Amino acid sequence: MIRCEHLTHIYGRGTPLQTQALTDVSLTIAAGEFVGIIGATGSGKSTLVQHFNALLRPTAGHVYLDGGDLHARGVDRRRVRREVGLLFQYPEQQLFEETVSADVAFGPRNLGLDEDEVQMRVRRALTLVGLDPDRFGPRSPFELSGGEMRRAALAGVLSMEPRMLILDEPTAGLDPTGRREILGHVGRLHRERGLAIVLITHSMDAVARLAGRVLVLDRGRLVAEGGPREIFADPARLQALGLGVPQMTLLGQRLRERGLPVRPDILTVAEARTAVLEALRVRGRSHGAL
Ligand code: ADP
Ligand code: MG
Repeated sequence: MIRCEHLTHIYGRGTPLQTQALTDVSLTIAAGEFVGIIGATGSGKSTLVQHFNALLRPTAGHVYLDGGDLHARGVDRRRVRREVGLLFQYPEQQLFEETVSADVAFGPRNLGLDEDEVQMRVRRALTLVGLDPDRFGPRSPFELSGGEMRRAALAGVLSMEPRMLILDEPTAGLDPTGRREILGHVGRLHRERGLAIVLITHSMDAVARLAGRVLVLDRGRLVAEGGPREIFADPARLQALGLGVPQMTLLGQRLRERGLPVRPDILTVAEARTAVLEALRVRGRSHGAL
């Protein structure tokens, strides 16, 4: 669905503040895929994803949506932004209407849809993020909890009915319940609606649990790409990039250091349980007893 070829982005070119944020990045993201993007602060994650919906223009290289160059002449970039929805960091800062419903309706209304269609989309989008439209619709966005506000902002993006949803650190600043809820809804949007998801996050556990593929950025370059198992199998490399590994991968590593031969590619609690039991069984056999 998205393809970047030799994408380079320089902010403030020719000024003393010139910053090369991306260097020669090539990648593809298929329709319906769930891709995690990880990298230290300043590695270019936000800059990269803003090219996927044509908010930023490459300094060099090309970005394609369904094979069409986003910056070719005559491309309807408003249509592109409908198909590729982007939830910015701290999106609740962009809630501004008097009610949650009016806020979620803002985008569809701008499309010139008739009011019945707008209302239907508002109800659908709020339901998708677990906010009952009758209860939350009439309320002021500013009376909501942090997690609810974030989900209301997500509903605003979903009301445009995108095929791809990009989330830039959607759990930043939320408490554990807020984080769990928003990621739960994102996982469901992928599984049940087939939305392609691009998730930027500092939570390696979220990436391990949700992503089918992981992209690793370092100082503007794409330095690794692969399934989460593959990416997290090399903790030393990630640590060198200022990144961690999922908690259960770390646990596996510690157990191996202490002589318990568990698999090196554990991602989740369930996998850790199976791997530890298996390792104990193997050791029990070789020692003649558990
Ligand atoms: P990340 O999202 O991984 O933290 P960013 O894409 O925000 O990284 O930033 C990449 C680099 O580009 C950083 O050096 C950052 O300071 C710089 N940068 C980001 N946005 C701007 C901007 N609007 N103007 C100038 N420099 C920017
Ligand atoms: Mg960022």
